[in-house]
Amino acid sequence: YGKVNGGDKILEYNSELRETYDELLLLESDIRKAFKLNEFKLAYQPKVDVETNEIIGVEALIRWEHGKKGKISPATFIPIAEEIGLIHQIGEWVLQEACMQFVRWREQGAEPVIIAVNVSALEIQQQGFLEKVERIVEETGMDPNYLEIEITENSVMQNTKDCIETMRALRRMGISLSIDDFGTGYSSMGYLQKFPINYLKIDQSFLKDLFIEAGSAEIIKAMIQLGHTFGLKVVAEGVEGENMLQFIREEACDYYQGYLYSKPVAAEEISEKLTKVH
Ligand code: C2E
Ligand code: MG
Ligand code: MG
Ligand code: MG
Repeated sequence: YGKVNGGDKILEYNSELRETYDELLLLESDIRKAFKLNEFKLAYQPKVDVETNEIIGVEALIRWEHGKKGKISPATFIPIAEEIGLIHQIGEWVLQEACMQFVRWREQGAEPVIIAVNVSALEIQQQGFLEKVERIVEETGMDPNYLEIEITENSVMQNTKDCIETMRALRRMGISLSIDDFGTGYSSMGYLQKFPINYLKIDQSFLKDLFIEAGSAEIIKAMIQLGHTFGLKVVAEGVEGENMLQFIREEACDYYQGYLYSKPVAAEEISEKLTKVH
């Protein structure tokens, strides 16, 4: 759907395209409506210590249940929200909601764990992003030392200089930073040296191929070592089986996320686990 509205592409209006185009417009207006009506929710997926199997953090993931179409994946609607400029408001809501949830968990007696929020490239590059984060932290009473921001490789590669400045300022506030979907971007690895990041998250596609495709094991090993060389903690995404966990444990990967431990679940479902940590 790259540039469907007002882009520079000439679309051929065969019926199939026409259909996808209409579908997309519909979805656009539905996203706006959903946002206005406060229909988005957050699910939380634990991040777990490979050695101790303890929850060290949770990742907030946006959820949308469409009235007619059912659940729609953020992989589908986030890019559209970016395209129509709504991502800034959605992102603000996500950050606010996640911070409020952290405070709620604390009030319920949970041990503090890091809460990670996905931030899109457009958000982090927008003027005023820092101030927005500062304001939300302040208003919600969030402890920024427990806040983590996940950004993808590609998003930090655009506009590198400003991005580094923003990242440094976030770090000074106590916020930690992750590179999400590591290994899937188009970037050179030079940024590992330049960027003030804390975590590398190995994209789930590598784990998926682990026992299927020759060479995947070597790539994962190399990525873990690379992260450690730069003093970063490494998180494996998409750990679905005990054999995968065993492999990353042998390779000294620090943390993991995946269906093996838990799918992303509603906040209430996690609270119980958090009060039992440590
Ligand atoms: P991500 O940040 O890389 O999140 C990981 C995705 O992998 C999530 O999909 C999660 O549900 C899924 N996952 C976790 N464990 C497993 C597993 O063991 N197996 C498999 N097959 N999948 C697993 P989800 O929630 O559909 O999110 C997709 C992407 O949408 C996210 O990828 C992120 O890039 C984006 N996204 C989600 N929430 C937000 C948000 O609040 N803001 C922004 N800007 N993007 C978001
Ligand atoms: Mg993420
Ligand atoms: Mg990821
Ligand atoms: Mg992803």
